[in-house]
Amino acid sequence: MPPQSTGWGGSRRLLRQVRDLMQSGGHWQDRLDRLVRLIASDMVAEVCSLYVMRAGEVLELFATWGLRPEAVHRTRLRMGEGIVGEVALTGRALSLPDAQEHPNFAYRPETGEEVYHSMLGVPLLREGRVIGVLAVQNKTRRSYTDDEIETLEIVAMVLVELIGAAGLIGEEEERHTDSTTSLPLRLSGIALHEGVAMGEAVPHERGIVIKQVVAEDVNSELERLDRSLHEMLGALDTLLERSELAESGEHREVLETYRMFAADRGWIERLREAVRGGLTAEAAVQRVQKDMRTRMSKVRDPYIRERYADMEDLGNRLLHHLLGAEGSAEAGDLPEEMILVARTLGPAELLDYDPQRLKGVVLEDGGPTAHVAIVARAMGIPMLGRCPDLLKLVRPGDFMIVDGDHGQVLLRPRLSVREHFADAIEVRDQRRAAFASNRDLPPETQDGRRISLMVNAGLLMDISQAHDCGAEGIGLYRTEVPFMVREAFPDVPTQVDFYDRVLSLAEDKPVTFRTLDIGGDKALPYWSGTPDENPVMGWRAIRIGLDRPAMLRRQLRALLRAAEERHLRLMFPMVSDVSELARARDLLDREMERHLKEGGREPARLEVGAMLEVPALVWQLPALFARSDFVSVGSNDLFQFFFASDRGNPRLARRYDVLSPPALNFMRSLMQQAHEADAQVSLCGEMAGHPLEALAALGCGFRILSMPPAAVGQIRTMIRSLDLSELENFVDELIQRPDHSVRELLRGYAIDHGISI
Ligand code: PEP
Ligand code: MG
Repeated sequence: MPPQSTGWGGSRRLLRQVRDLMQSGGHWQDRLDRLVRLIASDMVAEVCSLYVMRAGEVLELFATWGLRPEAVHRTRLRMGEGIVGEVALTGRALSLPDAQEHPNFAYRPETGEEVYHSMLGVPLLREGRVIGVLAVQNKTRRSYTDDEIETLEIVAMVLVELIGAAGLIGEEEERHTDSTTSLPLRLSGIALHEGVAMGEAVPHERGIVIKQVVAEDVNSELERLDRSLHEMLGALDTLLERSELAESGEHREVLETYRMFAADRGWIERLREAVRGGLTAEAAVQRVQKDMRTRMSKVRDPYIRERYADMEDLGNRLLHHLLGAEGSAEAGDLPEEMILVARTLGPAELLDYDPQRLKGVVLEDGGPTAHVAIVARAMGIPMLGRCPDLLKLVRPGDFMIVDGDHGQVLLRPRLSVREHFADAIEVRDQRRAAFASNRDLPPETQDGRRISLMVNAGLLMDISQAHDCGAEGIGLYRTEVPFMVREAFPDVPTQVDFYDRVLSLAEDKPVTFRTLDIGGDKALPYWSGTPDENPVMGWRAIRIGLDRPAMLRRQLRALLRAAEERHLRLMFPMVSDVSELARARDLLDREMERHLKEGGREPARLEVGAMLEVPALVWQLPALFARSDFVSVGSNDLFQFFFASDRGNPRLARRYDVLSPPALNFMRSLMQQAHEADAQVSLCGEMAGHPLEALAALGCGFRILSMPPAAVGQIRTMIRSLDLSELENFVDELIQRPDHSVRELLRGYAIDHGISI
């Protein structure tokens, strides 16, 4: 039976009691101890804890009812660390039915809190600053009511006043303050490559000191420069031929472009010019680097910044050749297991480190299109980017955990946390091995229903992974990805060559090519659209394709040429109504006519589909099904429009849940209509790769799921443990409920029915 809310009458009584208690005499610690006990009992919580901000950055457990008393004044969390740290960082209440499931959960064994699941934390705010956090916890996985949240917020407000008025937390508590520089810290970033790794921090620095700036003899400096450039090119060739990078893919393209830059005439000429002006070769390199840094400091375009990282990398490499220190990092000085930290890295800089020792990478800069991220994926190294203040906070030799699965870095974690992660890595490896051994088993439910598992791809290496994980095909090939790593808009022959490679690599597996989804935030360096105020709802995808038909037609032409006598599946992104699909098909028909006229052969089979990412399209389903061979639901975009909630905004990330009655109702009704029309409708958004979300999708009627290759094993295992008819009945019940989210109910169902999630 869930605990009852105090309601308004109850909260007034509680406030009176809090006030009386705080104004009573006695030692402040004793009063705080009685206070947390009072709040816990009034709110029917098993735990109530008060954390107070120390030295403006550490939250210290000051009093608790329910957690172990020995944790008081011992447990400390940084801003942003753990749920309490997150409440302090955001200055907002956070209510979680299962705090341990939250990626920010920071386990502190001294508190004994592992038995508590639900948690509600509210900030103590004084003059707009967070001065502490008040939290309650319960063993059961329960959702706190709005009344309860409000009650705790009001108690927190009163507490702030009383703490200030009584000077309770003043000089006396300051005695407890000690240095915080060695405290554990959690940093958030964006995952550039999944996986978990740990090791010692190694800041990437080359530490070059230039002793001589002015050239004594310009001609001999020019010769030195040429010699070093020549040596550097030779060494780069050797580096790029490393066996683990030999396989073809975008990483090769990135590295080869980098190699091309090394021989770039403009760059070499600028270096020479600086030497002719009287500088030594090494001073010339630094001067050119400095000029470039000044120019680049104002550039926001991620692509151009990426080019800059390439040039900075090359400059450093050249300096090493000039000064005699060979480009490769000295293995002897480096820890056995290292995490490389840097502001940014050029694509080839990773290759300077011994791959046996290099376990993970964290960058202060660096977005998903960073070239070094593509190389890290090829090398299988977990990597995180956009970690603000990283270099300020990390000291060489600090122990670090890179958690690419949850976009977080744990800096100087406690021993218990390290052990926890070491166990987690082991379990992860075991689970992966178990999933890998399932690779050839059919994705069939307990009641004999067959599901199709596909992968989402963007890089060529994703296609090899589709084979490795035993997927049936490529459910979504994002063609904009190869466009993004190129220098200029690829012409038709280049595109033909690329699509041909994709189809050949996929062998007999079908590939669903999605035409370009550019514009808005997916900018191409050579494509200058005017910036939209709301880019994701702006001029993007098929909207650009229809307004600039020459571009779309060239892509369709290339796809038709590449797919002669092969199976071609084509789909158009961001279709808002059926007429847009009809216009796109019309362009395809014209391209087909041209292709045949030029003597080309037809594809062995041609299927044309639309992505369902705009809710309006659901009100045209009969017409849509009649005009398409298949439909693929892009839940990432679809649900951001459905809930009017930006998919990339961390403040909204947990506000709405796809596992909610409205979203499930929407999918259920869509799939009912699809089944009635015998239409093929698949799901290719991120949710298809998360076990609980994929479970809900199956319950709503989806039978084809497309996901990142790494998720296939886990989803296959989930499917094989499931009775689909029972699940469908349960989902029918869930969609009738008035709840904000049914996630916990679905999780409970999965656990009770032995479904592997
Ligand atoms: C989607 O919107 O769900 C989708 C698969 O497309 P993208 O993530 O590339 O926008
Ligand atoms: Mg999309």
